[in-house]
Amino acid sequence: MQNFTYHAHTNGQGIFDGRNTAEEMICRAEKLGFEELGISNHLIFHPNLKTVDKMFFNDFDVVSSVMQKNAEEIRRAADRAKIKVLVGFEVDFFPSSAWRLAFEKLQKTLRADYYIGSCHFLRNKEETKLVNMYLYREGDADFLPSELGTGLEIYWQNVALAAESGYFNFLAHLDVYKIFPYLQNLPEPESQSLAIDTVCRLKHPYELNTSGWRKCGEQHPALSFLQKFALAGVPVVISDDAHCTEHLAAGFEEAENLLASIDYNKRWRLIK
Ligand SMILES: [Zn+2]
Ligand SMILES: [Zn+2]
Repeated sequence: MQNFTYHAHTNGQGIFDGRNTAEEMICRAEKLGFEELGISNHLIFHPNLKTVDKMFFNDFDVVSSVMQKNAEEIRRAADRAKIKVLVGFEVDFFPSSAWRLAFEKLQKTLRADYYIGSCHFLRNKEETKLVNMYLYREGDADFLPSELGTGLEIYWQNVALAAESGYFNFLAHLDVYKIFPYLQNLPEPESQSLAIDTVCRLKHPYELNTSGWRKCGEQHPALSFLQKFALAGVPVVISDDAHCTEHLAAGFEEAENLLASIDYNKRWRLIK
């Protein structure tokens, strides 16, 4: 069974959405017999973002300083660990050149071990309206219910562009939106199959995220996607997306069984 995860969160600086400290997560990973633990707190930055959550940043200097502190905190905890501890970030990707320039600048200062490409936002093409899927409420003036279909269309375009960007070691929870009831009964956008084709063509690593089982009874991504990726030989890594110590390795056995049941044999691991 896979004995590592690269997708785990902490409560660092009272900002991030994990429930435990880096030390507590490391201690639990050691007890589970993990070889490696990658901590990947959220890096959510966009100049047009409303800072309605502690983890959302629209000021480059502020996000830069918070993320550097986060990396330092994890590296300090890693010094005392018995297992290999890595510093990663789960990054919300946006395709505009303004975002890319800022991210490239951040990469230089953070010197992280890896980056996970993620998308938790509904947005318009121009990136002037950015609504976090977790915070969306019906009647949100920035994103009317009639615009949700377009939101999903753009979501999958974002996935394809994130894969093509070359910024990320692997892509997170590809169909994350299915955990939200308000996004469940929309027609499948055309951009979905294009995004899946892009991931297949690039053989871009992605994760089988077990947190879906906790949230909506199905892993990310759905079985039909896993089957396509298996056929195309796209490397997969199992992630628990742990937000507390109890989540570490949760669902790993089921995930291994699922991959074995479709003869999935191309796995991904960070080589440093
Ligand atoms: Zn996520
Ligand atoms: Zn996560």
